[in-house]
Amino acid sequence: MASLTVEIDPGSGFCFGVVKAVEMAESALAKKQTVYCLGEIVHNGEEVDRLEKLGMKTISHQDLEDINDGIILFRAHGEPPTSYNIIKEKEHKLADATCPVVLKLQQRVKQAWLNQTKNNGQVVIYGKKGHAEVIGLLGQTNGEAILVEKEADLAQIDFSRPTEIFSQTTKSVKGFQNITDKIQAATKNGVEVIVHDTICRQVANRVTRIQEFARKHDIIIMVGGLKSSNAQMLFQACQEVNRNSHFVTGPEGVQAEWFQKRPAKVGVCGGTSTPAWLMKQVAQEIEKM
Ligand code: SF4
Repeated sequence: MASLTVEIDPGSGFCFGVVKAVEMAESALAKKQTVYCLGEIVHNGEEVDRLEKLGMKTISHQDLEDINDGIILFRAHGEPPTSYNIIKEKEHKLADATCPVVLKLQQRVKQAWLNQTKNNGQVVIYGKKGHAEVIGLLGQTNGEAILVEKEADLAQIDFSRPTEIFSQTTKSVKGFQNITDKIQAATKNGVEVIVHDTICRQVANRVTRIQEFARKHDIIIMVGGLKSSNAQMLFQACQEVNRNSHFVTGPEGVQAEWFQKRPAKVGVCGGTSTPAWLMKQVAQEIEKM
């Protein structure tokens, strides 16, 4: 049977925020320190398993109260002020891997909330409910910012008051544009709306690039965690330009029936939370066919 050629997208894989968090965990583990990561270090189960085998423990916010040793690692998504308060009260050692882009966004959201509170205004965050980064952002506003995930959530906004809008760093530019257009159209004449496009360009720039990659290949295999909003978003972007796009979490998800048409050029890609070693394993699985 004619062959398959497999190429891994050189632009896919960890963003610098995730690289830094994983390096911080690895360096503490290498010094034989006990590392407790608050939440999954990255939205990729395979990478979490790898680090847990090296000794890292993933803990919840409730667990934070009961820990008395080791180092607590804050991951790239950032944390709300309440988590920093617990660290201080319990005198935990902290390794803070909050991505500098997220940290800056947290500060901007806090400042906007302080300004808008004086101004009888409101802060809106476009993001995914329950996402760690969003919890960290809402925490900057004492939980008062309005979270908009979909159009139906716009009903919570008072369009007679000034509004300042931010986006979670991993949302799509198109989605943010749609939401801000709707808010601007619904706001009463003369009432101020300030829009901050805070989508991380490490993510946004990948959409155009990954679509170019998807167009150049007959079959696309996107490798990512089921909880990774970035991997899901990039997968959709691939599907828009290449209908033969498939999503897998690892090599075991690869299905022979996807590769019936030969010869074929197969492209393997991933999100900002997909480790390079996992894309390689998936590529090797395809090469076996
Ligand atoms: S996607 Fe951007 S903001 Fe988020 S962790 Fe990566 S570099 Fe930081």
